[in-house]
Amino acid sequence: MGRCEFSTRILPATCAWSLLLGATGLFFIFIVPDHLQKYSIAIPIYQGILSLFVIANFALATFMDPGVYPRAHEDEFRDDDFRAPLYKNVEIKGITMRMKWCTTCQFYRPPRCSHCSVCNNCIETFDHHCPWVNNCIGRRNYRYFFLFLISLTIHKISIFSLCLVYVLNHKKDLAQTGNIIALIVMVIIGLLIIPVGGLTGFHTVLVARGRTTNEQVTGKFRGSPNPFTRGCCKNCKYALCGPQWPRLVSYKPRTKTVQIESSRVTYVAAEKDVKIFMDNSNGIKHDNSSNHRL
Ligand SMILES: [Zn+2]
Ligand SMILES: [Zn+2]
Repeated sequence: MGRCEFSTRILPATCAWSLLLGATGLFFIFIVPDHLQKYSIAIPIYQGILSLFVIANFALATFMDPGVYPRAHEDEFRDDDFRAPLYKNVEIKGITMRMKWCTTCQFYRPPRCSHCSVCNNCIETFDHHCPWVNNCIGRRNYRYFFLFLISLTIHKISIFSLCLVYVLNHKKDLAQTGNIIALIVMVIIGLLIIPVGGLTGFHTVLVARGRTTNEQVTGKFRGSPNPFTRGCCKNCKYALCGPQWPRLVSYKPRTKTVQIESSRVTYVAAEKDVKIFMDNSNGIKHDNSSNHRL
């Protein structure tokens, strides 16, 4: 990646960090002492915890591995891949989904996986590439991204209200520093609250319906049911309290890879609702011996 391209990539994220830390810092330095004196110590404590929660989730969404699939090892794609079909189909809960061959990563992308053109990697349960965090949002960091959006919306409404109270308390002298700072913070929040609030609402609907942004904008389940939804309540529970998936790029298999003849192997899965089969319909390869069942 060139230096110019790198600077362009980190610019929105730098702006986002500067706005968040700048507005929060100004609020704590100029507005909070007055509220502490007039009202209660509960205000700085509550606002401090909320700010730390927002920053922690923002940092996790920014720096966490979103679920990068490691590229195929050289010995895995020694075979002539020109003869391999472009797609394979997988059936999940009776719904057929296509797995496309990723020419960069050299494997069939599992369902919900997509190749990010910015990061140049295949990402597990790809949601979108977010320029504001300069990272992909995928299976591993979606929860933190979602919690960041929710807490940021509450944080902004809260700071806006407390700044408004400050201005109303000091309206006799609008030119004083505290008032000017409060008005600047209110203008920044006023400009950001509609896009941030809208995005939070959009992701809340996606979480409730068990979809990713990628699936929503590409209309993946427009004509067919979504096999990944568990129902509204379970979708929300899964998004917020589900398992934390391990990193795949650092995974080192303990066993050696051995070559087997695929036509002689039959797998029976514990849950019999998943099966993989070759998609011969694209006509590139006609190999009837390669039926697999999971
Ligand atoms: Zn890829
Ligand atoms: Zn990306």
